[in-house]
Amino acid sequence: MKYLALVIILSGCANTATTPWCTSKAGTVLIGVPPDNTFPITSHKYGNTDWDCENFQRAEDLLLEAVEQITPQFHLNAKSQLKSVAIYFHDGDSWVNTNEIEIAGQALCNWNTIQISSSTPPSSAYAHEMFHVFQGCKAPLPIDKKRDEDHADWIRSGIYEAIDYWSKSWNF
Ligand SMILES: [Zn+2]
Repeated sequence: MKYLALVIILSGCANTATTPWCTSKAGTVLIGVPPDNTFPITSHKYGNTDWDCENFQRAEDLLLEAVEQITPQFHLNAKSQLKSVAIYFHDGDSWVNTNEIEIAGQALCNWNTIQISSSTPPSSAYAHEMFHVFQGCKAPLPIDKKRDEDHADWIRSGIYEAIDYWSKSWNF
């Protein structure tokens, strides 16, 4: 996998440690956005000033509230699963991934990492990608009607509803 190769190369360098921009109460770290949109990154620079540390914490608080209200099946583990998740930004509202698909976020569960576009918090993929993290990027089968493997149970499990709840909770 392309990213894995990059990680191995980077980890061989001496000066690759990333200092978090801020750390949430649950222990999620906000890293930033790379100047050239490469990923993973070794420098940190903000993509969207709406994503300051205060809103970053709010995103987490609202997510945990949405989980408690709409998808309580995730609630027991949600906090500990958020611990040590690293968040990277990508410039702009969306970007085209290596499969030539336009995306606004991606979860890389093996590295406990998500990357999201620089959209303002309520329209961000933050909550969406965190649900991938809660599922370890493995949605239980069968696949709901008109869904795909990655989001197989997201309708019946209430995940889309929880994300919607999260988006609407902002009063941004
Ligand atoms: Zn998804």
